[in-house]
Amino acid sequence: AKETGKARAVIHSPSHIGPPQHDISLEAAMFQAVREGEFLLYYQPIVDARTRAIQGFETLMRWKHPTLGMVPPARFIPIAETNGLINLLGAWALKAACVQLKQFEDVARRNLYISVNISPRQFRNDKFLEVLDDALAFSSMRGEQLVLEITEGTLMIDPVHAEAILSKMAERKARIAIDDFGTGYSSLAYLKRFPISVLKIDRTFIRDLPAAQKDGAICNAVLDLAKHLDLSVVAEGVETEEQLHYLAARGCQYIQGYLTGKPMAANVALAALEDSIHA
Ligand code: C2E
Ligand code: CA
Ligand code: CA
Ligand code: CA
Repeated sequence: AKETGKARAVIHSPSHIGPPQHDISLEAAMFQAVREGEFLLYYQPIVDARTRAIQGFETLMRWKHPTLGMVPPARFIPIAETNGLINLLGAWALKAACVQLKQFEDVARRNLYISVNISPRQFRNDKFLEVLDDALAFSSMRGEQLVLEITEGTLMIDPVHAEAILSKMAERKARIAIDDFGTGYSSLAYLKRFPISVLKIDRTFIRDLPAAQKDGAICNAVLDLAKHLDLSVVAEGVETEEQLHYLAARGCQYIQGYLTGKPMAANVALAALEDSIHA
């Protein structure tokens, strides 16, 4: 039978899975999961801080394992990054996200954008531009509706190569967001060198607002910097009304967090968009 013919990976309960470098069983299960189609995409709304209207969605990968349940990306992305599976998964995610955006727009009856995480290895892969063009062509989505989220580290591994890739992306009008802004080791000089459009303030700077003064100072500084460099800012991980008001009052235009929408399955996101046109 179909089931018995397969070499099922032996999987321990999550608490017994060792540290990532020893996740042999999880790694084996990932290859199986690709064949079985266990990976899916969730979508988290990015909203206007004042109106709370959905502007776009960040695509977040999920792995729904038949017995382990939802395996968080923090567990499987690092493995995929190490063994190269991220290139396959990332290419699939980019294409699927672009196709999904079309359906979101049809329901919302307005333009939206889709923001996709690109890992360092994916960004440096020779085929990356091909993958990007394929996703845009297949979905017939315009480049300006795509935001690619990369970290400071991704740019710094090989800045000369990064510059070449980013200029190719600019030709396609795809925008670049710096993910987890402020948590890397790089200097700010790269903001001058590279064509960047969006800064995403990391959740660690938002979490303890409005009480935490240092976090507040950092958010203010980022907002000020962004204003002068003509960049958009998305505050990540906004969970409370107080945080939203604090940020909105300081000119933060976009918010992403559990307060305004958790990562959700595509059909749930569609329902939210459906509701918004009747609101
Ligand atoms: P990230 O890109 O920084 O994504 C934001 C993470 O914060 C997501 O975790 C999201 O669910 C979570 N989050 C959003 N709002 C809130 C909030 O209000 N409170 C809290 N506590 N958390 C919030 P998630 O989905 O577990 O993803 C974790 C990381 O895995 C991502 O961090 C990203 O680095 C990576 N990842 C996820 N999907 C992909 C993907 O398709 N490709 C790549 N290369 N990496 C991905
Ligand atoms: Ca991200
Ligand atoms: Ca982030
Ligand atoms: Ca993060």
